[in-house]
Amino acid sequence: MQTGLGAIVTGSTSGIGLAIAQALARAGTNVMLNGFGDREAIEVLRRELAAETGVQVAYSAADMSKPAEIAQLVVDAEAAFGGVDILVNNAGVQFVAPVDEFPDAKWEQIIGINLSSNFHAIKAVLPGMKRRNRGRIVNIASAHGLVASPFKSAYVAAKHGVVGLTKAVALEVAETAITVNAICPGYVRTPLVEGQIRDQAKVHDMPEDRVVREVILASQPNKRFVELEQLGALVLFLCSDAAGSITGAALPIEGGWTAR
Ligand code: NAD
Repeated sequence: MQTGLGAIVTGSTSGIGLAIAQALARAGTNVMLNGFGDREAIEVLRRELAAETGVQVAYSAADMSKPAEIAQLVVDAEAAFGGVDILVNNAGVQFVAPVDEFPDAKWEQIIGINLSSNFHAIKAVLPGMKRRNRGRIVNIASAHGLVASPFKSAYVAAKHGVVGLTKAVALEVAETAITVNAICPGYVRTPLVEGQIRDQAKVHDMPEDRVVREVILASQPNKRFVELEQLGALVLFLCSDAAGSITGAALPIEGGWTAR
């Protein structure tokens, strides 16, 4: 992959986003980190990744539920790196409840962070990508962008929305050198999933290792979590010239979940 490009990875202070940011930085891409968390810990992360890789690593605390902050994030990244060549829309949250008990505020929050933020960030980066006729947009959807599970109505709706948005934008820019794709991971052992394991252990009154095997990985035929490094590698591939003909795709990386 070409070095010296500029990337934004939303929600990259933890989990999948952090792994993708690390993979991009290690491949020589300047990276704008984003997400919540302890400011000192984030600054340590930023400094260590910059020192390890020699690329520019910046940080923005932009809240992905706020369109004006998303627009500013893009302005800041363009100023820092001279342009945004890669956008990874990754920030996401989860909430699980039956639809008739689902709090309205949680629905709005999940649609805002998991879906609308992708629209706002894409809208803000595209003019620069079109000007330079170069760009890679990778939206982190989910296996839940392809199939549903009960009690996750907002998450499933948002992730199906991300897949639809991906296809529409890919078609709009198909004749340029910009590609737009979604990645659909199965379960990855991140803080987001650790929370679900704890909750399900309480609901089912089961030890956590049984919850992992019998509840969490029940739908994942290979019975293994997706590795963070595997997601980083897939994003790097989609950002490479070799993937120039892949656009509008929703790529499953879920141990066979959606093959059933
Ligand atoms: P995580 O909780 O470890 O990380 C989420 C990141 O998003 C954090 O950096 C957090 O600070 C950030 N974030 C949350 N709300 C934000 C906001 N309003 N503004 C800016 N940043 C915000 O979660 P994860 O498991 O790494 O999930 C990352 C993405 O991958 C999500 O979109 C999630 O839906 C998706 N995903 C996760 C899994 C999984 O099994 N972990 C599977 C499929 C898809």
